[in-house]
Amino acid sequence: MPDCLFCKIAAGQIPSSVVYQDDDMFAFRDINPQAPFHVLIVPRRHIPTVNDIAEADAALVGTMMRRAAALAAEHGYAERGYRTVFNCNGEAGQTVFHLHLHVLAGRGLTWPPG
Ligand code: AMP
Ligand code: ZN
Repeated sequence: MPDCLFCKIAAGQIPSSVVYQDDDMFAFRDINPQAPFHVLIVPRRHIPTVNDIAEADAALVGTMMRRAAALAAEHGYAERGYRTVFNCNGEAGQTVFHLHLHVLAGRGLTWPPG
């Protein structure tokens, strides 16, 4: 296993506040939330960045997007609105190099982002 924070969370070696899990992915609350609702959807398999998504991963990533919509709906944000974000590499501010989809909701989110 790579020395990776999210692989360790996936393995249960580091605790997290899980809101969803299945065989392929899990979702937990961000430790430093940027909105009242801020979760990360993470594939169990180590994929470093968006640049590393292979053709064979297309269904997995599509399912992650559908899970974002399902979690937003479950928590009451489907109609209010929410934002999904994949940060990729340095200028986008990626700090954990294991693919993750941010889902943010619960306040007015400005555009363009910072
Ligand atoms: P990014 O900057 O897109 O790579 O996002 C990484 C996210 O992981 C940040 O929003 C962090 O707050 C979050 N994070 C870092 N460590 C933990 C942790 N142990 N549990 C939950 N979220 C974390
Ligand atoms: Zn990893």
